[in-house]
Formats: sequence, structure tokens, C-alpha cells
Amino acid sequence: MPRDLFVRYYGANDSRKQQMKGIQGKNILVTGATSGIGQAIAAYFATEGANVALNYRNDPNKLDDTRKLISQMCSQVKGCGGKELPVEGDVSEEGDIIRMCNEVIEKLGSLDILINNAGIQTSAASHELKTSDFDKVMNVNLRGAYLCAREAIKHFMERGNGGIIINVSSVHEIIPRPQYVSYSMSKGGMENMTKTLALEYAPHNIRVNAIAPGATATPINSWTDDAQKRQEVESHIPMGRVGTSEEMAAITAFLASDDAAYITGQTLFVDGGLTLYPDFLNPWSAGE
Ligand code: NAD
Repeated sequence: MPRDLFVRYYGANDSRKQQMKGIQGKNILVTGATSGIGQAIAAYFATEGANVALNYRNDPNKLDDTRKLISQMCSQVKGCGGKELPVEGDVSEEGDIIRMCNEVIEKLGSLDILINNAGIQTSAASHELKTSDFDKVMNVNLRGAYLCAREAIKHFMERGNGGIIINVSSVHEIIPRPQYVSYSMSKGGMENMTKTLALEYAPHNIRVNAIAPGATATPINSWTDDAQKRQEVESHIPMGRVGTSEEMAAITAFLASDDAAYITGQTLFVDGGLTLYPDFLNPWSAGE
């Protein structure tokens, strides 16, 4: 069941007095906006006064549910005072990406902020992974993110007023993840893509950064709705709990805001300490 993120997290009881600098009135495209972290990012930017283009995939098995959710999210964006734009597209398809970006630019007037969020994972022993499964993950997580960035940067360069890209990476950007080699490779590649594009376009005031979520409760993880499995996951996290999509959204918005105007090429780890070598929390030996 789709959640009413706006009311639940930022709506009626929203006590924030001040909006984030530089987000209001900006046109933002979020890929994979109909679930988990992408949904929370779309909601967060809407409440900050952005116009939000919501990318969704045309999955024939879930079309009715997706349409219903997209229509709810659109009215919520509108309710926050921004413009809304649902944009269908599969980020593993170059044609879809080009059409989607053109649609955003044409209908919203421009694109200011791209959030490369769409992502998938498949699990198999690395020596048994099918080439098609490897390609699927790389095509969505890395190639798709690059092609979206390429189209956004083309537009940023043409209009000559800078722009912002935030990539949703993962702690597996640096932590090896056995049985998920394509996922680890895609996020490792994302780190270098973030840095390379940041360096190449810094002189044009185009900032490219990434967030690296740790374990976050979303539908991508089988433990999200399984208390026992979740506890097992939490036992490995120094802060003792998994993260929320809203926590990821808040940091994404910070990186896109003017408060982060001098940050580029960085990955911000949002992981409750997961990348701090948790095994070292307790000394391995009590010896002198
Ligand atoms: P999710 O499964 O809830 O959401 C993934 C979204 O990507 C969905 O909206 C899905 O429709 C979309 N998507 C998948 N393939 C697509 C395609 N070909 N074209 C367009 N959209 C597509 O998972 P999530 O946890 O919200 O994942 C969002 C991002 O966060 C991913 O890049 C993921 O790797 C990253 N991440 C998640 C976690 C976590 O623990 N949840 C941790 C680190 C990083």
C-alpha cells in the first residue's frame, strides 16, 4: 500500500520554520520516484517548494498500482505548491532517457537538479552470475545513471547556468559485497563517475555529488518487513538501527541546496557508522 509520505512525515505537523536555500522553484527530476528512497526524495523536495518530475517504470504487472501511486504523488506535489510531472521511462533504455529529459525540459521549462536514484540488485555466486543479470544491474545502476547525467549536463551547458546532479550510490561503493558483484561494481563505478563529472564540469558551476545510504528500510530489501531479519541486519550497524528513506532524502536535499554550494565530487555516507569497520568497536584482544 502506498504511504502518504507528505502528511506522515512533513505535512500537517511540519514544524520547520525555514526552507532550504536554493530549492524553492527549482525543477527536479527523480528517477525511480515511486518507491523507497526515490519516493521520499520526491516528497522532500516538494515540501521544499520544488517542481518535481517523477520518473516511473512502465511495469505491465504493476501498472494500475503505479498509476494510482503516481496520481497520489502528483496531487501531493501540487498540494505543496509546486508543479508536478509524471514521466514514464526505463533508465536502462537510452531512448527513454532522452525522451524523458526532453519532456521535463519542455514541460517544466528547464531542468535544474537531477537525482539518479533508480537502482536494482540481483544476487548470485559471482562464478554463476548470468551475463544477462550482470548487464541488467549495470545498465540500470551505472549506465542509466551516466546517460541521465549526460542528458542533464547537455542541457546545463546549453543554458549556461550551472546545474546539480546527486547520485544515489551505496555503502557498497566501498564495501565489497559478495554475491552481489554487479551491484558492488555499479556503485564503485558510480563513485568514479561522480568524481569525474564533478571535475570535468566544475568550471561550469555544475556540481555532482552522491549519497551512500547504508541499510535502509525500503522494498529493495527482503528484511524490511521481517522483524527477525531486520534485527540481524541492525546487529551489524554501530548505531543499532537501519536508516529511513526520509533520512536519505534530507541529505540529498542538503547536497542540492545552496548550503552545499561549495561541495562537489563527494560521496556523503549516510549509514549509522556502517563504513567505520564495525568489527573494531570492541577490541579484538584485551592484551596490552
Ligand atoms: P526500491 O526498490 O524501493 O526503489 C527502486 C526504484 O528504482 C523503484 O522506484 C523502481 O521502480 C526504480 N527502478 C528500477 N529499475 C528501473 C528502471 N529500469 N527504470 C526506472 N526506474 C527503475 O529501492 P530503494 O532502496 O529505494 O533504492 C533506491 C536507490 O537507493 C537505489 O539506487 C539503491 O541501490 C540505493 N540504495 C538503497 C539502499 C537500501 O538499503 N535500501 C542502500 C544503499 C543504496
